Parts: sequence; structure tokens; C-alpha cells
Amino acid sequence: MSAELQDLYQEVILDHNRRPRNFRVIEDAASAEGFNPLCGDRVTVYLKVENGTIKDVSFQGAGCAISKASASLMTESVKGKTIDEVTALFERFQRMITAPADVPTESLGKLSVLAGVRQFPVRVKCATLAWHTLRSAVDAPGGVVSTD
Ligand code: ZN
Repeated sequence: MSAELQDLYQEVILDHNRRPRNFRVIEDAASAEGFNPLCGDRVTVYLKVENGTIKDVSFQGAGCAISKASASLMTESVKGKTIDEVTALFERFQRMITAPADVPTESLGKLSVLAGVRQFPVRVKCATLAWHTLRSAVDAPGGVVSTD
């Protein structure tokens, strides 16, 4: 990846950290809490599912720029998708951010800005926290997940 492109990706991450999208509470929604003790990131994911499709999704929380940007990008990426599509997307996302740094990754649209995380293995849990929490909100609403 060129340095220029990396700067651009960095810019997108910082923008989502500063102005997180879908950063709100959804009343009467299924929710779950996630905690990454390694970094101190906390996130609550809210979601509304209708006929197996995510109608609305949001999050609240505090943490590092990666965890917040990842949660923000996730909410934008999963809205309108079916639970099956989201499960598949999470698997591809996880593959992307855990692949060896010299292996080209598949493009995942705007989620690709987080591909650089694979160079910092300790940050992988920051980037996947919101996704694990989303899965918990689907499978066991009201639960608390820890990345440890
Ligand atoms: Zn973090």
C-alpha cells in the first residue's frame, strides 16, 4: 500500500473517531455490551432486527480511535443486511485484519480502511470488539462479552 493511501485510510479512521456514525441509543432495541480489557475499550451495540434483516443499528461507548472507528464503520456496513450476510462479513473482516502483512487482502469496501490493523496484532481486539458485541446482541441480547 502506498504511503499516500495509508494516510488517506488514517484520515478516514480519525474522522470516524471524531464524528462516529450511528452514535446513539435505540429505545426498545436488543443490545449487548462489549469490553476489551487489554485496551480499556467499552462499547454497547443496539440493534433492531425485522424478518432476519438489520433495520437499525447503533452504538455507544468509549475507547481508542480504532475501536470507535471500527464500531462506526460496522454500523454503516451492516445496516440493511441479513444476519447471515453480517455473519459472513464478520468472518471476512476477521480474515482481513489477521492476515499476514505481506499478503494482499480482499477489498471490503469502507471496512478496508482497517486492513492496516493487521500490522499491530494487539489492535485486532480493538477492531473486532464491536463485531463480537453485535453478534452477542443477535444471539444473546442483554449479554456482556469480553475479548479476553
Ligand atoms: Zn482499543
